[in-house]
Amino acid sequence: MMKMQLFTPGPVPIPERVLSFPGQNPLSHRNSMFFELMERIQTSLSIFLKSEGPVVILPSSGTGALEALCSNFINNGDRVLSVSCGTFGNRFREIARIYGADIISLDIPHGSSAKPGEVNSLLTANPDVKAILLTHNETSTGVVNPLSQIVQSLPESCPLVLVDAVSSLGAMPCFPERWRIDGLASCSQKGLLTPPGLGLVWLSDRAWQYLCSYKQKKGFYFDLPMHRAYLDKKDPQNPFTPPVSLLEILDRSLLFILDYGQEEWFVSKKRLSRSFIAGISAMGLEPFVKEDYARSPGVSSVLFPDGRAELIQRSLEDMGIIASGGQGDLKGHIMRFAHYSDQHWPETAMLLGCIYGGLLENGIEASPDYMLSAWNTWKEAK
Ligand SMILES: *Cc1c(COP(=O)(O)O)cnc(C)c1O
Repeated sequence: MMKMQLFTPGPVPIPERVLSFPGQNPLSHRNSMFFELMERIQTSLSIFLKSEGPVVILPSSGTGALEALCSNFINNGDRVLSVSCGTFGNRFREIARIYGADIISLDIPHGSSAKPGEVNSLLTANPDVKAILLTHNETSTGVVNPLSQIVQSLPESCPLVLVDAVSSLGAMPCFPERWRIDGLASCSQKGLLTPPGLGLVWLSDRAWQYLCSYKQKKGFYFDLPMHRAYLDKKDPQNPFTPPVSLLEILDRSLLFILDYGQEEWFVSKKRLSRSFIAGISAMGLEPFVKEDYARSPGVSSVLFPDGRAELIQRSLEDMGIIASGGQGDLKGHIMRFAHYSDQHWPETAMLLGCIYGGLLENGIEASPDYMLSAWNTWKEAK
């Protein structure tokens, strides 16, 4: 069988150093070896998030972590301001609606990021808003939102800020405590280089106090105060049997990135995305996200002329390259290429070469100068 290379924005390939540990039987989750694993994961995550606060790790994908935020924080009839830049912003909104939110929508044109002023004015016009829903990195379009500037533009006494960080944590700065965020949801299979199956939830002190003031339980399996109580034990653990094997991989992946250097890792993601964008632009293609500052360092979206993205996707698959197509209205128009994994110049050069071949194969004109542009940007962006 041909070697298949994943460039999808989740799941992402797991670094070889992380995967190369002997297969072993699952740990007992009520045993000291597990408690040590859990402590190490919490310590690593506190470095990633620059916050001491424990992170609840749920057996779910990212959507489960988003649902946990909604089920715990949203009550019937609550006014909720939902900012959406694409499919995932819409999904977060939909979950909140199911839990009874009365939604005020701010829809950003696809391919652009949210502007701090817009969120602030909508909040000023709706003083009864109880929570704001934001997406850090909108994976469906490849847009990163200026989260810290958005929250800074809001008044100190602002409503709870709940954030979908499913495709940002690990790959780019994501510091919820410093940025005055109250609830953050993420997952294992994107920036954290772990197979799918873990949902992560971080809450601010204010958010924990708010939850603990409730008399009534808000669900059972995703009851965040119960998860917190188990994490706060002398031996940190989960209330229910956790996916121990995935947690072992998460531990190794976090240490892998920390060993590389967190700052250096963030820089390497930017470098990958910049040189990739330089390459496809020189080829004659257009990045879907026009403003440089709004482009995600984790996932790049590329516009293909005349709705021919699916033809290119098929050609790439024939070469063993698995990337993602567009979602919703963008289906057929864009493709999305992820930079989350431990890629360097060789992966960038290979990917660009394969896209170039895919274009020629489908009768789309492309300039062969792409490699020089990509290489120059790669060298400059060091
Ligand atoms: C992937 C993704 C999700 C959904 O995560 P699943 O793990 O597939 O449930 C939600 N939001 C964003 C921004 C994502 O990238």
